[in-house]
Amino acid sequence: MKLLTRMARSFVAGETVEEAIKNVRKLNEKSIMATLDVLGESVKDRETAEKAVNAYLALLDAIPKAGINSHVSLKLTQMGLDIDTDYCCQNIDRIVGKAKTLGNFVRVDMEGTPHTQRTLDIFYRLRQKYDNVGIVLQAYLHRTGKDVRDLNNIKAKIRLCKGAYKEPPDLAIKKMKDIRANFILLAETLFKEGVYPAIATHDDRLIKWTKEYTASNKIANDRFEFQYLYGIRNKTFRNLAEEGYRVRCYVPFGTHWLPYFSRRLRERKENVFFVVKNLFRK
Ligand SMILES: Cc1cc2nc3c(=O)[nH]c(=O)nc-3n(C[C@H](O)[C@H](O)[C@H](O)COP(=O)(O)OP(=O)(O)OC[C@H]3O[C@@H](n4cnc5c(N)ncnc54)[C@H](O)[C@@H]3O)c2cc1C
Repeated sequence: MKLLTRMARSFVAGETVEEAIKNVRKLNEKSIMATLDVLGESVKDRETAEKAVNAYLALLDAIPKAGINSHVSLKLTQMGLDIDTDYCCQNIDRIVGKAKTLGNFVRVDMEGTPHTQRTLDIFYRLRQKYDNVGIVLQAYLHRTGKDVRDLNNIKAKIRLCKGAYKEPPDLAIKKMKDIRANFILLAETLFKEGVYPAIATHDDRLIKWTKEYTASNKIANDRFEFQYLYGIRNKTFRNLAEEGYRVRCYVPFGTHWLPYFSRRLRERKENVFFVVKNLFRK
């Protein structure tokens, strides 16, 4: 378990708020903004959901106290989506409301397809009340073209990513080449009709496309941002920040790192080899 913990540390910025803040400060020093995520998902009882809400409320207070540049990201199943939709909505309302008073921003992560519609339903409810909340859409889902158009109509801030969950072919595009093509199509719509898109990928081809598209369409660097996951391709994103692009790092922390860590392993065979190799090393 210890070796796994050590491996997880390359993707997770510590177990405590203090450790996470220390890591965000290092990123900020390199002109990289952050979005902090208190790890947790698939919560089945109100006590755990309440703890998660309190952790986010405390985190929102800690950010300005520490003087760091960071938003927060969260998952609705951590806030009780699988317990009761209204209950979940009340929980996230408390967090977005507090963020609003502090001038901060909350990004609602997108989970697997059993949660997609309910996540969007709650987002639409929140968006009627707040402007400091954004959502994530996944380029691998067949439905995302329509979701992008609908969300653009309400001027929602969207983070576009490929998608990290195992989905069936009737719901999701399976070939990487096709996911990439759809990502470009969706990103183009976001640049044309959306509000401040966040391009969340480590894929060199998509990063290159974004740079070329924004340059040739005279889209200023302050009208969008690149986002990446803590511990992945740091140099690429440091370079982007140095080139004058806005860059934000998704910084997860906490003790419930296993599902997040497993998704990162699944994305990249080399990571699994690395873990296995370490297991056999003294
Ligand atoms: C800021 C951010 C937020 C996200 N939020 C969500 C969300 O809310 N919902 C959701 O479903 N998904 C989310 N994701 C994950 C996303 O959907 C992808 O699963 C993930 O980003 C991998 O896809 P990629 O576009 O980076 O391309 P890939 O083709 O997977 O990777 C491109 C290159 O990046 C590097 N790389 C990618 N992943 C890894 C890794 N795990 N370890 C080491 N190197 C790696 C490799 O060099 C690889 O060749 C998020 C991603 C980012 C960057």
